[in-house]
Amino acid sequence: MIETIPHFIGGRRVAGTGRSAAVFDPATGKQTGSVALASGADVRAAVEAAAAAAPAWAETTPLKRARILNAFLRIAEDRIDQLARVITAEHGKVHSDAIGEIQRGLEVVEFATGAPSLLKSEITESVGTRVDSHALRQPLGVVAGITPFNFPAMVPMWMFPVALACGNTFVLKPSERDPSAAILLGEWLKEAGLPDGVFNVVNGDKEAVDALLADPDVQAISFVGSTPIARYIYETAAKTGKRCQALGGAKNHMIVMPDADLDQAVDALMGAAYGSAGERCMAISVAVPVGEATADALMAKLAPRVRALKVGPGTDPESEMGPLVTAQHRDKVVGYIDAGVAEGAELVVDGRGQSLQGYEGGYYVGGTLFDRVTPDMTIYKEEIFGPVLSVVRAPDYATAAKLINEHEFGNGTAIFTRDGDAAREFAHSIKVGMVGINVPIPVPMAFHSFGGWKASLFGDHHMHGPEGVRFYTKLKTITTRWPTGIRAGAEFVMPTMK
Ligand code: NAD
Repeated sequence: MIETIPHFIGGRRVAGTGRSAAVFDPATGKQTGSVALASGADVRAAVEAAAAAAPAWAETTPLKRARILNAFLRIAEDRIDQLARVITAEHGKVHSDAIGEIQRGLEVVEFATGAPSLLKSEITESVGTRVDSHALRQPLGVVAGITPFNFPAMVPMWMFPVALACGNTFVLKPSERDPSAAILLGEWLKEAGLPDGVFNVVNGDKEAVDALLADPDVQAISFVGSTPIARYIYETAAKTGKRCQALGGAKNHMIVMPDADLDQAVDALMGAAYGSAGERCMAISVAVPVGEATADALMAKLAPRVRALKVGPGTDPESEMGPLVTAQHRDKVVGYIDAGVAEGAELVVDGRGQSLQGYEGGYYVGGTLFDRVTPDMTIYKEEIFGPVLSVVRAPDYATAAKLINEHEFGNGTAIFTRDGDAAREFAHSIKVGMVGINVPIPVPMAFHSFGGWKASLFGDHHMHGPEGVRFYTKLKTITTRWPTGIRAGAEFVMPTMK
């Protein structure tokens, strides 16, 4: 059956008025849904609903907002399995991985339930004689989130829990490739007591995104996706005077030092490179063993593990890796493997040509491993976003660190070592936003903030944690003097505190 996936505006499902796009089950390649693609008028309706709800929501006390988020948290925890199944059906990732992404998203909801504490502000008594100053953090109004396909629940939850906790209303434009999770989140928020219009979902593509960017009522845009679109969103938002945080693509390196525990490093690489079929912005896509002996030993342990990876539908509990999200994306990843071979990298494990019995139409690519990749190769320079790990051999630590520092992207990185000096130097000097020391995927917890450097993030604020609260609030500073009966008379010079 082909399900119609609508918008969620003003607290109810709203059918699309125009174009639509097919949604597929990546495990089988069969169409399962048809998602509405919002027109400018549909987006306007969502923004109007959010704008109408904004004043009352901003006046709702932070404690009441927190209680609603708490109720949502309980609903989502109770139904986590249902949401995970929806994600697997449209994204393809294995069920346990879908559960993991929801849990990481719900941690941001937990963080946001601290709204009364998060919004406490600063006060300085006696900035002058009988004069006090205090700062307020107030909501922006209507804010929008535009999210990628690879985390259909977690990435929206990097955004809206903090935005709502801070008193904003929200319009979410999820990926058109796996749109159903967002609708469920909207319905559960309503069930938790969120007033209609505070959270809205418009499904769509570039037309919807451009309508959000152009809408004068949208005060801020949070974006997560590929770098070319992140750059476009940031530049366009800047032109229209909107606050913007736009997170882009990645190419995350893991250095393996000669003193590393190799078994631990190989376990880490397996999960970090091939988990979620490499469709994670924090996936490790480049391993950099230091020294030929380290590289040879690493390859000897890694190659059989990659060959043994269990690829299959995300619904099969035996599968370690599911299919890629779409046929086009599968073809793109295969194109990169072809390019790696053509450019002279050593293809140690080839994941092309996977066909699973009973799932012949699915978008599968097996675990792929390249050795002797060099920095001039396309497979090194560009983000592949698939189950393809490149090994770049470095003669020493300095060469390995230079590779990372000179790469276009700076999202995440890791070092595996037992040497405290090397680890400290790495953490201090590396030009990357999120760094792991013997931790392959250093995704910050909800109460810290998530974000990369260089072409992995455009804007000033990372997501969730304290940076999220800053992004979703405007600062107001109030200076107060109460009449004392003493008149200083009119002063025409710049006021100073005498
Ligand atoms: P994408 O850039 O194709 O799409 C992201 C969003 O932008 C979607 O909602 C999509 O509808 C919209 N969009 C696509 N083309 C557009 C256009 N021309 N104009 C306006 N809007 C457009 O990204 P994706 O393929 O969905 O997701 C994968 C990418 O996201 C990877 O590059 C990955 O690294 C990145 N990502 C980054 C992070 C991070 O934290 N830095 C996290 C997750 C994913």
